[in-house]
Amino acid sequence: MSSASPILGIDLGTTNSLVGVVDSGFPILLADETGARMTPSAVHYAQDGSILVGAPALRKRSLEPQRTVTSVKRLIGRRSGEGDWTPPYDLRALGTTPVEVSAEILRRLKAIAERALEQPVSRAVITVPAYFNDAQRSATKQAGELAGLTVERIVSEPTAAALAYGLDKLDERKKIAVYDLGGGTFDISVLEMRDGVFQVLSTAGDTQLGGDDIDRALAAHLAPPGSDPALFLEAAEAAKKRLSSQESTRVDLPFYDGKNSLSRELTRAELEKLIRPLLERTREHCQRALHDAGVMLDEIDEVILVGGSTRIPLVRGLVARVFGREPNTSQNPDEAVAQGAVIQAGILSGSLQNVLLLDVTPLSLGIETFGGLMNVIIPRNSTLPCKAGEMFTNAVANQRDMLIRVLQGERELAKDNWELGQIVVPFPPGPKGSARVGVQFSIDVNGILQVLARDTATGKDIVLEIQNTAVDVDDERVEQMIAESVEHAFDDMNERLWTEARLKAEELLPAVETALAQFGDAVSEAERVTIQAAAAEVRRLLNAETHDATALKAANRALDEATQELAVRLVERAMEESLARRGLV
Ligand code: AMP
Repeated sequence: MSSASPILGIDLGTTNSLVGVVDSGFPILLADETGARMTPSAVHYAQDGSILVGAPALRKRSLEPQRTVTSVKRLIGRRSGEGDWTPPYDLRALGTTPVEVSAEILRRLKAIAERALEQPVSRAVITVPAYFNDAQRSATKQAGELAGLTVERIVSEPTAAALAYGLDKLDERKKIAVYDLGGGTFDISVLEMRDGVFQVLSTAGDTQLGGDDIDRALAAHLAPPGSDPALFLEAAEAAKKRLSSQESTRVDLPFYDGKNSLSRELTRAELEKLIRPLLERTREHCQRALHDAGVMLDEIDEVILVGGSTRIPLVRGLVARVFGREPNTSQNPDEAVAQGAVIQAGILSGSLQNVLLLDVTPLSLGIETFGGLMNVIIPRNSTLPCKAGEMFTNAVANQRDMLIRVLQGERELAKDNWELGQIVVPFPPGPKGSARVGVQFSIDVNGILQVLARDTATGKDIVLEIQNTAVDVDDERVEQMIAESVEHAFDDMNERLWTEARLKAEELLPAVETALAQFGDAVSEAERVTIQAAAAEVRRLLNAETHDATALKAANRALDEATQELAVRLVERAMEESLARRGLV
């Protein structure tokens, strides 16, 4: 955590509110002392003047509905009498206002953040529905200020959701639809990317349609004739949630009214039949929003889901049918708006500059080395930006330059990977292993790969820049490359081992021949026979039809061992000769 005061991102919701912050470059949501990240947007005003916020307030609702304020977001910024919702409480009787109630919730979120971060915070970004007018936006801002927060920005919820889904990377003029079905409200927005920011082209929805309606319908369905459906609300919501991931579930309510019990199996199909008409109502709002935005269905580039109720499979199916494409479900729908608020806060505080572009390399990057092998320099899935390098030398004497082939892929052999480019590094000719060429790969946040080759003797740099190829690879081709690398893993590995053994053998054989020819008198006849047999075995394997890497490695080792003594004697003789030449013996 940076020492500068962080900016909070706050989703001030109708039913639930969330708070988060960017920590070490990552957006995180903060939990209260019970471990909960969602705070019910509920405030209880007790008779004695004390105030409870969140889950404790919600627990008081059924006992004292007139003293427990929920869904205050439906009232904020409206003159009394305005709007289409009548709350079960009277704010004036409680001596409070919507702004003050919202301030209580925000004060609680601020306290959760300060406890989690162990430092005071005083700045925030707060989200509001896209359809909020000026009065509603400034009332929300006022609530923040009353809670001791400087409101750095008010952000539209669909825009925040789009940020959370990472859609801020979309190209200019791309259009997205945000389908938001929460507990009490349904919102549909069409957004367009313009000059790097999202513009809300249209919004539509129903402020009286959400998960609560589903719970009520299901409770009424479960309630036996003559019983009070309200008794089944909680069980209905729980069963509904389970049916989002299961095909059927058991509903057990022993002695729900003191004497009767309910125990029955409930299927997803049964729930779907019940709620289909409710959900169908969202369809025309979607069409309306498209119409108002002047956007055709096939111009929508992405559909994202927000709100807990979009976990219902029937909702996902409906969205897919309405928009003619599968919705993007990569984010947690209840947290997307809050995540987006946090990202926006991070951008404002400067702590997210790089992370927004955070990306990884989809495939390994490397260069071809001697023998046609792939030498990985930056492995796949490395986080950008990144930098890595290696030192190379000339494999043969008097080489005048080195060709560096830049490769991308997962295969062991260079020829099976994709070539991104080449650089030729010239260097002064010299014996084998005398040149020193450093090769460094660096990929910036934009995915641009720069390959820098430096001859350390001359200090001369050669730079090759490869635009975007480091990350900009077609997903399908990436998958195919990885699948192939797995499929060929065994053969590839054998080929790599073979190549390494072959290079070693090709180095060993001429050296042994030269030594025998020059210093043959230094070995016994028996030793000579052993060495020649070992060399013959290496040669045989080298020329064999099948590449047996293990056998060649073993033969190399045997030849190495057979020439051990010869090598020692050669060194001794060289020493003697040198000393003699200098007249020391
Ligand atoms: P939100 O306003 O985004 O917090 O959404 C809350 C609504 O989502 C409530 O009506 C919840 O019952 C509903 N919800 C949460 N999780 C699920 C789930 N797994 N399946 C169906 N509905 C859910």
